[in-house]
Formats: sequence, structure tokens, C-alpha cells
Amino acid sequence: MAYLNDNYLKLKAGYLFPEIGRRVKTFCDTNPAAALRLIRCGIGDVTEPLPAAVIAALHKAVDEMGLRESFKGYGPEQGYDWLRHAIAKKDFRDRGLDVADDEIFVSDGSKCDCGNILDILGHQNRIAISDPVYPVYLDTNVMAGHTGEADETGAYAGIHYLPCTAQNGFVPEPPSGKVDVIYLCSPNNPTGAVATRAQLEDWVRYALANQAIILFDAAYEAYITDPAIPRSIYEIPGARDCAIEFRSFSKNGGFTGVRCALTVVPKTLMASTANGERKPLHPLWLRRTTTKFNGVSYIVQRAAEALYSDEGKAQVRTLVNHYMGNAAVLVAGCRAAGFTVFGGSNAPYIWVSAPDGVTSWQAFDKILHDANVVITPGSGFGRHGEGYFRVSSFNSRANAEEVSRRVQALRW
Ligand SMILES: *Cc1c(COP(=O)(O)O)cnc(C)c1O
Repeated sequence: MAYLNDNYLKLKAGYLFPEIGRRVKTFCDTNPAAALRLIRCGIGDVTEPLPAAVIAALHKAVDEMGLRESFKGYGPEQGYDWLRHAIAKKDFRDRGLDVADDEIFVSDGSKCDCGNILDILGHQNRIAISDPVYPVYLDTNVMAGHTGEADETGAYAGIHYLPCTAQNGFVPEPPSGKVDVIYLCSPNNPTGAVATRAQLEDWVRYALANQAIILFDAAYEAYITDPAIPRSIYEIPGARDCAIEFRSFSKNGGFTGVRCALTVVPKTLMASTANGERKPLHPLWLRRTTTKFNGVSYIVQRAAEALYSDEGKAQVRTLVNHYMGNAAVLVAGCRAAGFTVFGGSNAPYIWVSAPDGVTSWQAFDKILHDANVVITPGSGFGRHGEGYFRVSSFNSRANAEEVSRRVQALRW
């Protein structure tokens, strides 16, 4: 008799996005006229086409694959040296950060990396996760058996939740007790909050004092324009000894459909064996990668490399500026409509407080029915998201402007 992984049965049935899809479909089926003017500001996917430098690199790499002399089969599982070098140099060393080429692991996505990293960490770790949160951190821990069952509020036994509220500016503080693995995401999805240098210093100090590991998700670092806000955890002294950083080309280069990302595992980062010996994690992640992964395609790695050319960098800037222009329009529109608004600067997400007494799902239904706009209910990201909704600035400028007008016309 074969057994299934019971932990999967603890998951709350992929509740958020299927439920949004169901409500949107019902609405569109019963209101075909309104369906035609529907604007989606829900799912965090980019909308603008790939930068020209990327398209050129893709074409060139495709042609190389068609010639015997330049054809490529399996590449190094952890990424081609030229891409690892470009990343380590241009994202880190040129900015004064100590990251070696072989500390970069190229992958097909940060979502996968955030989940896969649990392969090399012990099951006995106490896990700290923000609330609200990017659901991947939580669900992958549930799948790995690191939690008990969820209670009626959706909170899993065994997870140390870090509440993110208006009081702490939606940036979690280190707990008074001991945790071993901490997920941090800045700029944050869903709240759009960014952690200051002082806040990240507090976390690094906590991690070093407790021999804990920070899993730092920097998927939105390209959206930081304020020079005082760290774009990498390695800007904080000591972070090489306590942090893994995840980065992705999804939100800067628009690679959500192309698929390429990277994880930084410093060779100085140690963790404990079951009998208390300290050992480096880098060899474990290398072993995991070479055993379970066969690398990102040559064509896609050439496309990622193109983002680091002068042309590519300028085109990424243009893309990011476009989305941040939308964010400014949406923040202004929501404020003019009387909402209390967070995020939207140094981050593409806007986190809006629903009117008093209105739940996240009630706000979702009202905005869908009266404004024909799809947002994401904050409660779908965790208990502390209740009473908020997320507006994404991944859209055309015309749509952002139209959403801003429609939100102001709403009567609650
Ligand atoms: C979009 C996003 C990522 C990137 O995921 P990919 O798998 O690289 O596309 C990572 N973390 C967060 C929080 C995100 O929103």
C-alpha cells in the first residue's frame, strides 16, 4: 500500500486565487456588459512586453542552438559561469558587497527556490513567517511537515507568526523568543512595505545572536529608488553569516513567463547538524541543485545576461519607472477616494485599508460590482491582512488612470 503525504491535506485548498477567479467569473457571466470593462489589479503578474535587449539576446541564442558549432546541451546545473559572474559583479560587487561568482545559483524561479531551500534545512527548525505573507513561504512549510493543522482562523500550529500591522509599518520585529529560520520580504508582497537599514540590522543582530538563518526575498529590489533603503541583505554587516538571498528576473525584466531567478548562498553561512556541529550550507545547496535540477536553458540565461548590458539596464529602468508611475497614480486615486493607503513607493503594491467595518472580501465584492476592478483581498494573505486589500500597479497607464477614477466614484 502506498501512502500519500498527509501534510498536503492540511493545506487550505489554494483558497485565495481560485476564489477570486470564481467570484470574477460569476460576476462576468451575469454582467456581460460590465465584464467588457473589467480591469484586473489582482494577481501580481507583469503586463508589459520584454525589453528589446532581451528579445535580441533570445533570437541570437536560438540561432546558436541551430548550428552544430554553437549548439548547447546540458549546461552546469547551477548556471553558466558568465551569468553567475555578471550577477555577482553587477548586482553585488560593483555595489561594494562581498559576493563571489560561485555563491550565485541560477534557477528557474524564486518561488521554486523559496520552497526548495527547505530540502537543506532541518525539520526541527522553528519557523518565523510574517502575517500577512506571500503564501509560498507558509504552504511549503506545511507540505514539508513543519506545522500542525490550521485552526479556524487559518493559523497553523507550530509556525511563529510575525504580525505586520499599521503600528509597525508592516515590517515585522524580531520576536522575544527563539526562532531558527526567518522569512523576510522587502520590498514586500503584499503590503508594499520596505524595511529600513536599522530594521534589517535588528534582524541580522537577532539572527547572529540566535544562530538563526534569514531567508531574504528581494524579488522587488529593482523598485527601490530611495538610496537609504537596502536593496540586498548583504548591505548589512554580518549578513553573510546568517542570510540567504532570493532574487528574480520576473519583476525587473518582466521574466514571469520566461523564468529565471537566482539564490545567493554565502560560503560563510553555517547551520547546525543534529548533534550541534556547525557546517556550511553552500555544499548542501550545490549538491541539491546538481542532483535535483538540470539548470535553466541556455537561451534563457543569455536573455537574463542581456539585462546587465547598458542597454538592458536602461530598459529595465524604463519598465520599473512605468510601473512606479502607475503606483503613484493609484496611490493618489485611493487617497483622493478617502482611503488610508500604504506602500506604493519603492514597491509596486499598494495596501489599502478598507472603510471601517468593511472586510477584505466585502471590499473585493463592492469594488468588483461597482467599479468593475479586481483587487486582492488582504485576508487571503493571513489573518492580519483582514480589513485591507492589495492593488497591483502591474498594468497599462491607461488602466491605472481608469482604476483611479473609478475608485473615486465609489460610494460606500
Ligand atoms: C513574484 C515574486 C517572486 C518571484 O517569483 P518567480 O518564481 O521568480 O517568478 C518571489 N517572491 C515574491 C514575494 C514575489 O511576489
